[in-house]
Amino acid sequence: MGCAARVLDLDPLEEVRRMAHEQLDQWLEQMRPLFEQEKPPTLLELSQHFTRSRQQLLGGVLQSLADALYAHLKDQRQARCPCCGKPIRRKRRDPKHGNTLQGPVDLERGYFYCTDCRVGFHPLHEEPVAACNQVAARRGPQVGSGFGPSTATDGSRP
Ligand SMILES: [Zn+2]
Repeated sequence: MGCAARVLDLDPLEEVRRMAHEQLDQWLEQMRPLFEQEKPPTLLELSQHFTRSRQQLLGGVLQSLADALYAHLKDQRQARCPCCGKPIRRKRRDPKHGNTLQGPVDLERGYFYCTDCRVGFHPLHEEPVAACNQVAARRGPQVGSGFGPSTATDGSRP
């Protein structure tokens, strides 16, 4: 076998696999009543049951994947300002609830605010390109490009 990096004892994908199997087990378990009823469901009923319950499975798997893939962002304390490149410290942690086609997903990530650029951002979700463009416009010699002055969320309040 190859000697994979032994930074962590657990392969993150293996952890996702374990969590996904748990989700699958829970999902299958809620199928049990279908096996206990007198007559088996029709194919249509089975399909409808599947449609109603699949978000539980898919959402759970998606949550497991997100937890593994974004684990490093949860505890991220420093990030580079996307506009000026200055390293800045995390102001706070923000929960993020997302509704996806696969179901709801909850994440937590840091919020960073560059006082020089007056730009706040969450590294995971928003590439603040537009905000950086506005910073460049504020600093540049030309004013009145059609973009109104923007007040970036200053992030001073938790
Ligand atoms: Zn900056």
